[in-house]
Amino acid sequence: MTGLLDGKAALVTGGASGIGRATALAYAREGALVAVADRSEAAAQATVAMINAIGGQAIAIAADVTREDDVAAMVARTLIAFGRLDCAFNNAGIAPFQAGPTGQRTHELAESSWAAVLAVNLTGVFLCMKHQIPQMQRQNGGAIVNTASIAGLVGLPMSGAYVASKHGVIGLTKSAALEYAQDRIRVNAVCPGYIQTPMTTETVQRRGDELLGKVPAHRLGQPEEIAEAVVWLSSDRASFVTGSAYTVDGGYSAA
Ligand code: NDP
Repeated sequence: MTGLLDGKAALVTGGASGIGRATALAYAREGALVAVADRSEAAAQATVAMINAIGGQAIAIAADVTREDDVAAMVARTLIAFGRLDCAFNNAGIAPFQAGPTGQRTHELAESSWAAVLAVNLTGVFLCMKHQIPQMQRQNGGAIVNTASIAGLVGLPMSGAYVASKHGVIGLTKSAALEYAQDRIRVNAVCPGYIQTPMTTETVQRRGDELLGKVPAHRLGQPEEIAEAVVWLSSDRASFVTGSAYTVDGGYSAA
């Protein structure tokens, strides 16, 4: 049996939880060596243990994607461990409730809440690509997937900073796809709908019925269902796919 990512080296940010952890595991199952990065090294190490338990190889890296020196060191450590970087999943992100009070319209948002969301969700993706792309250029190719959201495609009330950050991820993804196609580097975004992870636990408890009412599939997605799309986008099977915003949302955005 061969895996879709045999022989490739992959890096996942936000790899200690939710969609990032599921994707790190899926990458490993498909044969990749995986660098699992997150704010907490211990939490990233727990994902590494799960990968080791299924026979995969991985390393844990502590990195805050809002800090350029952390991001540079994260890429450098991946190269020391694996000697190359073929696939990057720039996925670390925060929800509005992690940056300030919820339920605020645009004019009520504190500048600090706005800045905190943009720093992780958009600047973090920019910094990751900035430090990953030169290595992929040296290797004559690579595949980057950035985590956007259905909030990168449509507006959502009371979520202005989050929506702006995710629209920004899609714009940055498209620009980079154009800039680096000649270097054989593909850059895509994945747009999850409502997925069952620690990020959504509290929101689902508060207003799950309302959210599910907007999802034609009438259920939350599982992180593994996003991982499937990310693995494919990262693999050579998606060799002609670049600059796309790939939606995995149970039909939410088709309405
Ligand atoms: P989780 O909260 O489960 O996982 C996010 C991970 O990112 C956590 O381990 C978190 O660490 C880490 N993280 C947060 N800030 C930073 C940072 N500055 N540097 C490095 N790591 C950081 O969320 P999900 O798995 O649900 O979300 C993953 C991505 O998917 C996010 O970009 C999110 O916006 C996006 N998304 C999620 C959807 C959903 O319904 N769940 C829907 C659409 C998009 P810590 O726990 O220490 O904060």
